[in-house]
Amino acid sequence: MQLSLVIPFYNEEKQIPQTLDVCIPILEKTGRSWEIIAIDDGSTDGSWQKLTAAAEDQRIRAFHFSRNFGKEAAICAGLDLACGDVIILMDGDLQHPPAYIPEMLALWDQGYEVVEGKKAKRGKESLWSRLNAGIFYGSFRKLSGYDLTNASDFKLLVRRVVDAWRTLPEQNTFFRALSLWLGFKRTSFSFEVAERTSGKSKWKIRDLIRLSLDAMTGFSARPLYLISFLGLILFIIFFILSIQTLANYFLGRAASGFTTVILLQLLIGSSTLTSLGLIGIYISKVFTEIKARPRYIISEAVNMIPPAEPQHCSGSIVVAD
Ligand code: UDP
Ligand code: MG
Repeated sequence: MQLSLVIPFYNEEKQIPQTLDVCIPILEKTGRSWEIIAIDDGSTDGSWQKLTAAAEDQRIRAFHFSRNFGKEAAICAGLDLACGDVIILMDGDLQHPPAYIPEMLALWDQGYEVVEGKKAKRGKESLWSRLNAGIFYGSFRKLSGYDLTNASDFKLLVRRVVDAWRTLPEQNTFFRALSLWLGFKRTSFSFEVAERTSGKSKWKIRDLIRLSLDAMTGFSARPLYLISFLGLILFIIFFILSIQTLANYFLGRAASGFTTVILLQLLIGSSTLTSLGLIGIYISKVFTEIKARPRYIISEAVNMIPPAEPQHCSGSIVVAD
């Protein structure tokens, strides 16, 4: 097998046939042997029926999660199950235009091991989501040192890179940043994000906040250091104010100064709580990692080839015969 195309789908009943219809001719035209790894991320609509129907073609291998595990888990499963020498990851809603596949393969032929799609234009997006993205990428770069501006999950990885990825043991992955962390010979191309033709984006504000917190705390311990720094500054302020307060006390002017007390109370109270909360997030990360649960559970599969050794599979496959 030369080429694997990994596509996650979550409640994309309408979109699945369209996406496959666009992708298959492009794959055929590459003249290489290919497979499509379609991961159904626990869809509750008719997506799985659509995928099993499509999987009459042996080259389409379909996997169904036991519930919705999220796109990151779907990517992990796709990378575990792909058999190709080169693997391309793509969104299932055609927002990552498959027309770029030949260009990605050409870059691979030039010897690159990771080919990343960069968003040239962020498609039709509201000012609000642009602002969110701006804040997220800005703070992520400051905290972790990785610049993900305009990065996307539209990527080509060669077998060697996927094998390296599969040795990563963590449960919480952030593919976009981890693939940078892996290194290897990389290049990028820019693509115009297409508009969704059916359905709508599955992202909710809540998911975005969670992803941002996860990504940043997963990639940087700097917030923990910032807390200690904040503590130090507060201590200096406390020291200065305590001299003033004591002086006032001994000079018999102690009654005034309530304002300072209240301000201090508020400042110390709020900073203690945020700091505790932040430490809590890190502890919860340790907690989930230490449980070492599988990243996903596959409950149904069509045209399965068990994941390649030697690396372990990062999820559980419990398919009935
Ligand atoms: N997706 C998924 N699991 C989820 C949410 C989304 O597998 O829990 C898939 C979805 O079907 C699509 C891709 O991930 O193929 C990108 O999702 P979406 O279009 O909702 O995200 P956006 O394009 O807005 O970033
Ligand atoms: Mg999309």
